[in-house]
Amino acid sequence: DAVETLAALREKLSPRGDLVSPRGRELTQKVFGKPLTPVEVVETICRDVQSEGTSALLRYTKSLDGAELSADELRVPEEELKAAHAKADGNLIETIRRIRDNIVEFQSAILHRDVTITPRRGVSLTQRYVPIPRVGICVPGGAAAYPSTVMMTAIPAQVAGVDEIAVVAPPTPFGSYNTDMLATCHELGIKEVYRCGGAQAVAAMAYGCDAMPAVDKIVGPGNLFVALAKKLVFGTVDIDSFAGPSEVIVIADESADAAFVASDLIAQAEHSPGSAILITWDESLIAKVESELAEQLQALERGDLARDALADFGALILARDADQACELTDSFAPEHLQIETRNPESLIEKIRHSGAAFLGHHTPVALGDYAAGPSHVLPTGGTCRWAAGLSANSFLRSGSVTQFTESALAEIGPDVITVAEKEGLTAHARSISIRQR
Ligand code: NAD
Repeated sequence: DAVETLAALREKLSPRGDLVSPRGRELTQKVFGKPLTPVEVVETICRDVQSEGTSALLRYTKSLDGAELSADELRVPEEELKAAHAKADGNLIETIRRIRDNIVEFQSAILHRDVTITPRRGVSLTQRYVPIPRVGICVPGGAAAYPSTVMMTAIPAQVAGVDEIAVVAPPTPFGSYNTDMLATCHELGIKEVYRCGGAQAVAAMAYGCDAMPAVDKIVGPGNLFVALAKKLVFGTVDIDSFAGPSEVIVIADESADAAFVASDLIAQAEHSPGSAILITWDESLIAKVESELAEQLQALERGDLARDALADFGALILARDADQACELTDSFAPEHLQIETRNPESLIEKIRHSGAAFLGHHTPVALGDYAAGPSHVLPTGGTCRWAAGLSANSFLRSGSVTQFTESALAEIGPDVITVAEKEGLTAHARSISIRQR
């Protein structure tokens, strides 16, 4: 039934350390001479980069990505960024500028501001927010180029006031040799772009090496090796999340257009792997969506990939009613939620867990992926129960500032002394009492 189907899908989609293609396994065997697990691969790479620095980074860039680079060639020269921008499609540059405005407007509006309270005379308590100084962004480069990833990560960081942004992208035609990606970096004022990817780039950013100064936080999507490396270096640096395959739940009723719904499910499946689930209480919609899926998949360039992903990670679920649809959705805690019903505002009130929600018949997830304003880097695998999507606030660190006058200290001092003495920390107590003579 619906509950079991969703639980099985959630299990399948939770980020794991063993989902590797036969090609990936072959590469592991070739590079390491034995069949290591992805966790072992990443541990080995990170340890080598930490101890050997740039030479290990270059060695893995050669063996895993086939790019033989010198230390000087790791960083993309500024002239190359400028040249990519100069020859980029003018329409792309104009579009990036418009999208940047949307992202800046939203991210600036939600940015945390310092809060100060004066609970008693002579007491000032502040929560202040300061930007993280240096951030590293992973831009994938295996199967497609992602100017959108640059925008959805770098612009929130810039809004937060991050001083330095370094981008890493594999040395591939979709990565750091992709002129659209480089042009996007230049348009956004990013000057530091490095030709490396995978676990070795994450390790280099976390530990630093001659060719690349260490960062304080690493964000951005990537394959399993990137995700595992980020998890491993967490603690040395901060990370945004440990992300798995992308997912959407579409809740739809009889007011939904089956063609729209099918297009949204396919768009998510196109991520390959991507999970796309429809929940409706209108039985006739399921049949209509099924026939739309067949028709639209046939006409699509990446139709085969999406068809396979839908077969593996998709579901069309008939719920009893709207309330059950909301309960099922809440228990799945999807990364993306689309509500294509007559009254989406009332349904979203009943759903607590979703990474990002898109309401109505004219708000597809793709709008959020590319242009609306909130970042598309979102918690997957049910982690939105406790994690938030990336935003400008992800690049701020909070800290408190406390100030008491002598008389305010005299008032609260005995409480501190009582607890400190109970804990046997008499020096703590004394640092209060010494001020009360
Ligand atoms: P990627 O660029 O993240 O990683 C490629 C790197 O992986 C290579 O440089 C190589 O160093 C390493 N690698 C590959 N096989 C390896 C092996 N066997 N052993 C050790 N290292 C190995 O890769 P990608 O393929 O482009 O994947 C990007 C992922 O990010 C996709 O799953 C895509 O859907 C996802 N993505 C998500 C978003 C988002 O915001 N949610 C955006 C864009 C991409």
